[in-house]
Amino acid sequence: MSDDTARGEDEGLAAFRRELQAFARSACPPEIRAVVAAGRKVTKREYQRWQQILHDKGWGAPGWPQEVGGTGWDIRQRLVFEEVMAENDCPPLYHHGLGHIGPVIIRFGTAEQKARLLPRILDGSDWYCQGYSEPGAGSDLASLQTSARLDGEHYVINGQKIWTSHAHEANMIYMLVRTSRQAKKQEGISLVLVPMDTPGITVRPIRSIDGWPHLNEVFFDEVRVRADNLIGEPGKGWTCAKYLLERERLPPANVARLELVRRQVTRLVEEAARQAAGRRDFSGLLHKLLLCEADSKGARVLMAQATDDLIHQRPLGVQPSAIKLTCADVAQRLTTIALDAVGPDAAHRFLAEGGDGESAGVPEATWIQNYMFTRARTIAGGTSEVQRTVIANELFGTA
Ligand SMILES: Cc1cc2nc3c(=O)[nH]c(=O)nc-3n(C[C@H](O)[C@H](O)[C@H](O)COP(=O)(O)OP(=O)(O)OC[C@H]3O[C@@H](n4cnc5c(N)ncnc54)[C@H](O)[C@@H]3O)c2cc1C
Repeated sequence: MSDDTARGEDEGLAAFRRELQAFARSACPPEIRAVVAAGRKVTKREYQRWQQILHDKGWGAPGWPQEVGGTGWDIRQRLVFEEVMAENDCPPLYHHGLGHIGPVIIRFGTAEQKARLLPRILDGSDWYCQGYSEPGAGSDLASLQTSARLDGEHYVINGQKIWTSHAHEANMIYMLVRTSRQAKKQEGISLVLVPMDTPGITVRPIRSIDGWPHLNEVFFDEVRVRADNLIGEPGKGWTCAKYLLERERLPPANVARLELVRRQVTRLVEEAARQAAGRRDFSGLLHKLLLCEADSKGARVLMAQATDDLIHQRPLGVQPSAIKLTCADVAQRLTTIALDAVGPDAAHRFLAEGGDGESAGVPEATWIQNYMFTRARTIAGGTSEVQRTVIANELFGTA
């Protein structure tokens, strides 16, 4: 029985899978696949190179409608695309543009904004970061204070954002600002796009425990941005923000990547067991890996349902929160297994070397960094506690 038959795929989908496999193997540069396979961080240059290759092929935006440059694939094709790309160690699509702000522009932008902004996301020339959180507004995002006042044909922005991933390498930020002060804090918020080289913007790095440079604070001091960079109606940005957050919590790539990490960690444990040659018992770790496999398969089913609902514009309910919760949990468990497999000695050596970058002296550094990095998965994009509250409220009514 062939793999395709075993998956129960019809001939059309099986042929599509083979086409994707051949493309992934021949078109994705081997040096980029090596980075992904080793669990190292993909750089902006590598992401952009891969995006350009996909764009040239016409596959730059699998989730967008055809009329704005998307593929028009159905649900099964989109899931197969994510699966095949992950199986072949191709980088995931850069989420901030294609998965977050792109769909918001498609849904709420004017015809002029779509024509001006979407092609630059598709070909990778615009690299966005997300300016939502502030020092006093994370889970309680609607408390945000960064302001934007209208001055002729410009908004003038003042305030501060925090935990802004990739701000140091992005050329655009999509951000929530307060354009008027209303009785209800969700009102008077607007979503605006700002070029990062606008005078008055200062980016300061935040050092995180994984040693990878990705987090920043961003300060805005009398930053002037064209008023036609505001997406949707002024003061109605909360609707755009919620639309975006739902999509942020369910990128199909997350579930496919979970499978990729599971396979990598399985290889790591098997190699560690081989080297230990019976001096240490690895059966407990293999058992934990099996449980992770079961949970990531469950997440895959949830993801398939949610993607279908998205395509048919049905309400998503608890699905984004449930998927986000599960992916964060399984990712943490997998990297904990990896850390157990590499053993405490490697972790000590890594920390002794400064715990920075991908320490050349400690071959297992990538897994230690991945372990550290995934601690933040239950915080970034909405904490697990808040997701559980969202699920409970939706299923059982507000407490
Ligand atoms: C790695 C990383 C990347 C990030 N990237 C970005 C980014 O690119 N852009 C961006 O805008 N933000 C980003 N964030 C910020 C992230 O969205 C916030 O950290 C998150 O929403 C939590 O907000 P907070 O840090 O203010 O914590 P708080 O909201 O102050 O929460 C503190 C604790 O209280 C709990 N808590 C809060 N409210 C409730 C409640 N109602 N019920 C139960 N428990 C509650 C939380 O679960 C948490 O344990 C990132 C964060 C991390 C860690």
